[in-house]
Amino acid sequence: MPSALPLVLAAGLVGGAAVAAPSLPGPAFPRFASAASLTSACDSGLADAARRVKALEKHAPDSRWLAAWDDLNASIEDASAPIGLIENVHPDKAIRDAAQACTQRWAEFGSTLGQNELLYGALKKVQPRDAIEREFVKFAAEGFEDSGVSLAPADRQRAKQMSDRIADLAKQFEARIRDANVKVPVAVADLEGVPEDVWKTKPRDDAGKVLLGLDSPTLLPVLQRAEKPATRELLWRAKQNEGGEANLALLAELAQLRRDYAHLFGLKNFADFQLRRRMVENSATAARFLSDVQAAVQAREVRDIDELRDAKARHLGTPLAATRLERWDVSFYTERLRRDRYSVDQEAFRPYFPAEESLAFVMRIAERMLGIRYTRVAASLWHDDVRAFAVSDAKSGRPLATLYVDLYPREGKYNHAAVWPLRSASTRDQRVPQAALVVNMNRKGLSLDELETLLHEMGHAVHNNLSATRYSQQGSENVQWDFVEAPSQMLEDWVYDKKVLKLFAEVCPACRPVPDAMIDQARVARDFGKGVQTARQLLYATYDQALYTTDTPDPMALWSRMEGATPLGYVASTKFPAGFAHIAGGYAAGYYGYLYSLVVAHDLRTAFKDDRLDPVVGARYRRTVLAQGRQLPPRELVREFLGRETNSKAFFDDLAR
Ligand SMILES: [Zn+2]
Repeated sequence: MPSALPLVLAAGLVGGAAVAAPSLPGPAFPRFASAASLTSACDSGLADAARRVKALEKHAPDSRWLAAWDDLNASIEDASAPIGLIENVHPDKAIRDAAQACTQRWAEFGSTLGQNELLYGALKKVQPRDAIEREFVKFAAEGFEDSGVSLAPADRQRAKQMSDRIADLAKQFEARIRDANVKVPVAVADLEGVPEDVWKTKPRDDAGKVLLGLDSPTLLPVLQRAEKPATRELLWRAKQNEGGEANLALLAELAQLRRDYAHLFGLKNFADFQLRRRMVENSATAARFLSDVQAAVQAREVRDIDELRDAKARHLGTPLAATRLERWDVSFYTERLRRDRYSVDQEAFRPYFPAEESLAFVMRIAERMLGIRYTRVAASLWHDDVRAFAVSDAKSGRPLATLYVDLYPREGKYNHAAVWPLRSASTRDQRVPQAALVVNMNRKGLSLDELETLLHEMGHAVHNNLSATRYSQQGSENVQWDFVEAPSQMLEDWVYDKKVLKLFAEVCPACRPVPDAMIDQARVARDFGKGVQTARQLLYATYDQALYTTDTPDPMALWSRMEGATPLGYVASTKFPAGFAHIAGGYAAGYYGYLYSLVVAHDLRTAFKDDRLDPVVGARYRRTVLAQGRQLPPRELVREFLGRETNSKAFFDDLAR
């Protein structure tokens, strides 16, 4: 067990030499030397899980049954979760492919387990001893019931076939985007305005054109800075068409399968099937929420577009009436206006936020707020860029969790930002959580927007890492999905706080402090463009709800109609839904959750309004929200933290600002 002293000494060493002393709590991350070794680990994991299921089937439904059920799930998590991550981050495609095949088998194992009548029967006989166990039994029973255990035998079999097929198609959809590895050739002369470090070291084709990928550190600066509209359009269209016709067909099949799946349960559509387990409870409430947001944002979106169009007319010297704002103009003129009007240039932040120190900074925020410590530990992981941290309690030195961090882009790697929970907590058997934070940062340093993204992901990481639930199945990754983004979205705001930014000097005494004026301006500039951005998120959420409430889903027709009804319209021959992996996968009928969580996030922020680093409020937040995972419904956790019922006032006030 590491003591408190070396942890304090080690706290500034992020990115520097690894500290030898402490070890990572919990098992080491598995190493897979080849696709064959991964497949053999997959075989033995599945065989072991099958044996454990057999043993549990013989277990009496007594007071120890829930623990035994939780042990089974924990062992499944240990065997399958690292492979789910490997599928998305391993540099070797053969290993990623083997991992994909393995997660497929685990999904099938899960759908069989979900229909295990013996286990479901035993669960229903278990007598919960308190509120935590009541919630646990309810959650587990819903899992069985949603897998079809209570259906008539023929329907049960259909349900299993369908859910296996859904898992298979969703995987194919994601893999096609991840492995497409689209490279768009652009002549150097056409990159005017784009910072050199974005393209200078990129490969070239035979004609000397720069080959640009669609990862965010490449795509965003082009959309924001390329002076030539044709360059922006080229990249924008490539991104819109990621996934192609093949993915459109997959999405159509997924939507139909999910609709049919809901019908098996006597429900009208898949949105109602999903949402009856969420904070909103049904698709009608979700629709009402989305229309409230629409009403709040509509005028603001039109105003933003008018301003952007005006900026374009002035920039190009064209008459306003003859100037049309295209979709690939939005980021460009938003950034341009932010630069001109507020003197805010995202690129200008990079020198102040070096990549490694930015990671140390967001960790320092979590340390200060939540009373924890990060200590870098040497570990051999899936790529040399990846580093490991032990997370411990600052006061007691008690080891709490492990966090892996994979900061930089590379070929074949998941190209957005996300946290993979690898292990969930269980205080019952001292099981400590582990998670992996995966982002794609610019090695030269971060813009303020990217720093915000990093902090968002830290919010997910601490939600996993600070779970202290009795049962591992109640860990944070199992909270209701329209709440899961709230802890991460809450933190996004912290990067605009000058007091918070002062912590940068602690992790990087040699760094020049970011000037207060730049942050003040950035905060004002942030509100500009909020209408367009919120309206876009709203369109995604409304589209997702429409796709999963309609009887005859046609993803492309629905999209062109819905996008066509927005002020900027639909751009002919683009296929946005083909790249919308969220709603092909786990966010199906749940994309609204980003906006819904944001309502809760704004409400959570009210407790930190005087001091975002307040350790007393932070400790209460850690205890009443983060540590609780899914032991209680989110509404109850937030009530405990805020001392009142949650409401949407702060969210709508912010939208109006
Ligand atoms: Zn998130």
